[in-house]
This record gives sequence, C-alpha cells and structure tokens, in this order.
Amino acid sequence: MAAYDVVVIGGGPGGYSAAIRARQLGRKTALVEEADLGGVCLNWGCIPTKALLKQAEVYQLVRHADEYGIKVGEPEVDWEMVIGRSRDVAERLSKGVAYLMQKNGVDVLQGRGKLTPARKVQVDDGKSVTELDAAQVILATGSRPKSIPGVEFDGTRIISSKEAMVQEERPQALAIIGAGAIGVEFAYFYRAYGSEVLLLEALPQILPREDEEIAAGLAESLSEQGIEVATGAKVVAVNNKKRRVAVRYEVGGEAFAREVDRVLVATGVQGNIEGLGLEAAGVRTRNGMVEVDGRMETSAKGVYAIGDVAGTPQLAHAAVQEGIAAVEFAAGKERPELGQVPNCIYCQPQVASVGMSEKEAREAGRDVKVGRFPFAASGKGQAAGETAGLVKLVFDARYGELLGGAILGAEATELIAELGLALRLEATYEELLLTVHAHPTLSEAVMEAAGQAFGEAINI
Ligand code: NAD
Repeated sequence: MAAYDVVVIGGGPGGYSAAIRARQLGRKTALVEEADLGGVCLNWGCIPTKALLKQAEVYQLVRHADEYGIKVGEPEVDWEMVIGRSRDVAERLSKGVAYLMQKNGVDVLQGRGKLTPARKVQVDDGKSVTELDAAQVILATGSRPKSIPGVEFDGTRIISSKEAMVQEERPQALAIIGAGAIGVEFAYFYRAYGSEVLLLEALPQILPREDEEIAAGLAESLSEQGIEVATGAKVVAVNNKKRRVAVRYEVGGEAFAREVDRVLVATGVQGNIEGLGLEAAGVRTRNGMVEVDGRMETSAKGVYAIGDVAGTPQLAHAAVQEGIAAVEFAAGKERPELGQVPNCIYCQPQVASVGMSEKEAREAGRDVKVGRFPFAASGKGQAAGETAGLVKLVFDARYGELLGGAILGAEATELIAELGLALRLEATYEELLLTVHAHPTLSEAVMEAAGQAFGEAINI
C-alpha cells in the first residue's frame, strides 16, 4: 500500500493549492480527483464564466463604439465561438494545474476518493480500487448547485450554472431564480447578447450579502440594461412544458406568470459530502457541510476539510487560503487568522466588497463615518467612459480605522485589493489619503472616498 504524509481528495483551487504547499513543506503528497483538475472553479465556474463575461463586455463595447468616435456598424455574434473560447480557456488552465502537480512532485490519482473507517483513503477509478495510507487527509470535494423545493434540474430547460455556460443556442427568454453572484452574472451575460431576462430574488434586495446602496445601484443599472428585476419574489411553480417553461411567481401578493425558454436556478450550493465514508470515519457534518474547527480539522483527528465542503464563505480564494492553512496546521505551524475575504461579482458594472458594510458596522454598535466618491467625478472615469458607480468606505469615527469598503463600477474587482490590504494592516483613513494614488486612475476614487468621510476630499 502506498503511504503518504498528505492525501488531498479533490483537485479544485483549494485542493491543488494545499497539495503544492504540502510539497513545499517536504511532505509526500497525493491528490485524488475524479474529474478534471481545477475543479468547478477552473472548469465550470470562476474561469469560464469570466471568459464569457469578458466576451459580453467586448460585444457591448463594440456595439457602443460610436460613443468613442468609431463607426463599426452592427457587430455579428458567433455564438459557437463565444462558448468555445470560454471552454478553451478552462481547458488550458486545467492542463496548467496538471503541469503544476508534476512540477511540484504531487502524485495525481484519477478516481473517486473515499475514507475508510481505518482512516485510509480508497481510490476507485472505475476498474480497480487502490488503498492509500495517509497520515493526514484533506477533504476538498467542493460543492454543487442546489435547487429549491418543487423545482428539479432537468439539465435542458431547468438548468444550473454549468449548463448555462454551454448553451448551444442563446435562449430568447430566460428566467433566473436567485440574484446572488451566479444569478446576477448570468443575467448580465445573457442580456448583453439580447436575451429577455427576468431575475427573481426572494429577499428584498439583489446580492443580499452586499451593502444596500451598492446593491440598489446595481439593480438600477441592470434594469437600465433591460433586465427585469423582481425582488421580494416568491416562486410559486416552475412547469416544464413541451418546448418552454412556465414560471409562476408572486411579488407583494400579486401573481405573475411567464413563459421562457430556460430557467436558471442559482439559489446557492450544497457540499459534496456523499459517498466519502465520512460517518464511518467519524467525520461530523452539519447542514450538508463538513464541520471544522479553527484549524480546519474535522471531528476525526488528522482529517481536515477546506473550501466549499467546509461551509462559508464558498469562494475559490477562501478555499485556497484554507487549504494552505490546513497543511500548515497539520505540519504543526502557527498561522495568523485568515482575515477578511473579499467578495467580487463580475457583471457590469462590477461589485466588490471587503470587511463590514455600513449596516453591519452600525449593527455592531460602531460609531461610523462613511465616505463616498462617485466614478462620475473621476477624471479617469470620464476619460474612459466608465462613470457608473461609486466607492463607499466605512470608518470607525473615533480613530478613523477602516472597517470595510464596497465598490460598484468598472474594475471594482481589481480595485478591492487595496482595501483588503488596508484592512489587514488596520489602516486609517489618513493612510489611504496619504498614499499617493497615480493620476488619472480609477483608484483615486478610493483615496477620495477616504477623504470625503472626514471632509478632506478634493474633487467632490
Ligand atoms: P448565492 O448564495 O450567492 O445566491 C443565491 C441567491 O438566491 C440569494 O440571493 C438568495 O436569497 C436567493 N434565493 C434563494 N432561494 C430563492 C428562491 N426560492 N427564490 C428566489 N431567490 C432565492 O448563491 P449562487 O449565486 O448560486 O452562487 C453559489 C456560490 O458560488 C456562492 O457561494 C457564491 O458566492 C459563489 N459564486 C461566486 C462568484 C463570484 O465570486 N463572482 C460567482 C459565482 C458563484
């Protein structure tokens, strides 16, 4: 039986990063993956959707090229290429992970991994079962889309994000249930290509985890783009008819009915905990996720869980940090806390946030000062034609410490990195203000928002 110091089950960003870190620490490491290396993120999530979204942006830019003094006529869309390019990008990156495994000396075993009661790992490749002796096991099996009661995925008309990425033809009319990250990104994508999009969100605002003002700003922008946004919407029935799907829903007691070509259900994910031998190995789960302590260790000693299968935040970048942390903890190292995890949504305008929202800070009893700077007041924003949105920063009023920030606008998902570092360093508004930001850049809006909170903004 092959013996390893670390066996990682699941080759998504969390799992493969953990495997690389384990090798860096000199541990003999195996990675077990039943599908493609890179997991959902590289193959069916973050990466291919970002390719699709970029393509939608390019299309929109070309369509509106006359605003920049360039006349191109009505551009034509090659849908097959739109989908094909996104698949190519995913495939290329998955191969890149295989290369990284080889370069770092990680043994990759293709097959389905399972814990045995004796805490070994069995790998079933469909033909034979191999057993590995593992000093430490890291469960990194990720998650999959979950639907809502009474609505079953059928993979053709009632679909999840996976099928939404590879539609052979663009649906004319699409209803999306759930206005979280997936719902909002696909609403933007399909609308950009001309589909009629109905976005149904059960809660009173889209992106319920985001700052109210930022979410309202995005809802307004999506509506302007022609997306029908219904918040406080209760889905009553989704009926698959011969060709189309009938959706019935209620908003404020009023009933609505709609027929569409596709229904995308984007109401969250559930952990992949089945068939892993968890119960017999003494690994406790709760609400469909593996329970872990602050060191990512499960109730079974030496078995760790990271990423989506270990609960929120279910984001690739959180999984990577958790994977690295689990390996280091298992190796007896101490690590500082993970810190704040940024949230990024890649529709246009983009949304990004980190730390506390204004509401969360006030609810936590903090005396806050809020600074805002709209991109309409930014020189770069005006020059680039990117005037939608704003930077909103929340500070502790007494000492001026940054508590959190949210950005709506172009490049928000890149701009947020500065605020993540500022939070990590416990920066105050003065430090943001005294950091010289290049002119003209969109990043000046961060500096100006910091100034605005304390009456020191220059350009507003
Ligand atoms: P989510 O939890 O972000 O959003 C689900 C949304 O569905 C919520 O707004 C919720 O209120 C709503 N909802 C739930 N039940 C509903 C119902 N019956 N009717 C109408 N609305 C309902 O989940 P998601 O968007 O499916 O994404 C899955 C996971 O993937 C999340 O953890 C998300 O953060 C992550 N993800 C992240 C990104 C990104 O970072 N850009 C992109 C895609 C997915």
